[in-house]
Amino acid sequence: MPRHDVVIVGGGIVGSAVAYFLKTLAPAIDVAVVEPDRTYEFASTPRASGGARRQFSCPENIEMSNFSIPFIETADETLAVDGERAHVEWRRGGYLFIVGPEHLGILRDNAEEQRSHGVRAEFLDRDGLNARFPSMNLDGIAGGVHTPDDGWCDPTGLLQGFRRKARSLGAVYVEDRVVAIDHDGTAVRGVRLASGDAIAADHVVNAAGAWAKEIATMVGMPLPIEPLRRFEHYFETPNAIEPLPYVKDMARLAFRPEGRGYSGGLVDGDEPRGFNFDVDHDYFERVVWPALALRFPAFEACRCKRTWSGLYEQSELDGNPIIGNWADRLPNFHVVGGFSGHGMMHAPAAGRAIAELIVHGRFTTIDLARLGYRRVVENAPYPERGIV
Ligand SMILES: Cc1cc2nc3c(=O)[nH]c(=O)nc-3n(C[C@H](O)[C@H](O)[C@H](O)COP(=O)(O)OP(=O)(O)OC[C@H]3O[C@@H](n4cnc5c(N)ncnc54)[C@H](O)[C@@H]3O)c2cc1C
Repeated sequence: MPRHDVVIVGGGIVGSAVAYFLKTLAPAIDVAVVEPDRTYEFASTPRASGGARRQFSCPENIEMSNFSIPFIETADETLAVDGERAHVEWRRGGYLFIVGPEHLGILRDNAEEQRSHGVRAEFLDRDGLNARFPSMNLDGIAGGVHTPDDGWCDPTGLLQGFRRKARSLGAVYVEDRVVAIDHDGTAVRGVRLASGDAIAADHVVNAAGAWAKEIATMVGMPLPIEPLRRFEHYFETPNAIEPLPYVKDMARLAFRPEGRGYSGGLVDGDEPRGFNFDVDHDYFERVVWPALALRFPAFEACRCKRTWSGLYEQSELDGNPIIGNWADRLPNFHVVGGFSGHGMMHAPAAGRAIAELIVHGRFTTIDLARLGYRRVVENAPYPERGIV
């Protein structure tokens, strides 16, 4: 039976980031990534919108962004292989959160927290918003926070960059599916594959995204991560609008410029959980368009050109990721998932964190203990405050 120091289950952006950081932190470490689909047809990563922001309330999330965004910004060079650059297409377009009077206090507090972590977060009152974004209808809006150093990138470019670089450093991608995990009650011993093969391992990392709960179930670990369908739309308008950042509001409307148009959507948190990829072609007209046209009248004439679906790996406990090992039961079984819409932007920091846990036995850069599995065991949610 082949043996590896670490087997990573799932080779999406998170699993591939773990592989890359393991090989960077400890070049001699022997890493296999099990990924059944090299086209990533149903994986969340290629369906993502690509946004990366520092506007969070939890210090851990702000710190993860503070590492991940500069990493993404320079990933074309960092992830180059034999002189061939990656194609991450970072655009520093900024983020803008806008809120009504009832959420102004939270928004200000969050911005203060972000600034205490070195983030450029500028508060804009109604006059400030009007001066900067004259196309915006300010009815019901009390203020906003603009973080000009945030932006967006091509999620597929970042995933392929991590994958190619990890492989060039010696990580092996095994095209197969994990169907069982061997364990003896105190430790995991390896994985069994759909092909009938097996791989022995000193550590197993569950990076299976929306499928993470299935993998955890294989070792009897309760994991509150569920697939949540979400639509993304590409739309255009004939009307001129000033250059916009990635805009988010309290209705969970979120969109950004893309080519000649815009890409965005509006998350329905009440969507039934499950592996549903059906596209509701009326959703834009029914839900997104009214929210867009209300906030920016220039979108009254907009046309939706394409809608696609994808899955959030939703952390049902509190909307924050679960990053760490199962310390009480199977300490060499690690989870890195439940990013609930932020897995692309936080993949670099989360990948590095898991690599640190495996190589050093503890977090050595950002302390992510509060995002660990213990809070699931203790049923102690640690949610974000404000817009998610
Ligand atoms: C519409 C939409 C918009 C989004 N926008 C953003 C955004 O703007 N910014 C942001 O940061 N995030 C965004 N996200 C979230 C982001 O896409 C995810 O958080 C991120 O891609 C998760 O990466 P992952 O590697 O964990 O999962 P995935 O990319 O889904 O990878 C998981 C992999 O596990 C594999 N797998 C499954 N079962 C098994 C098994 N049994 N054995 C082996 N492998 C297995 C799958 O084949 C898959 O390739 C968005 C998501 C959606 C759907």
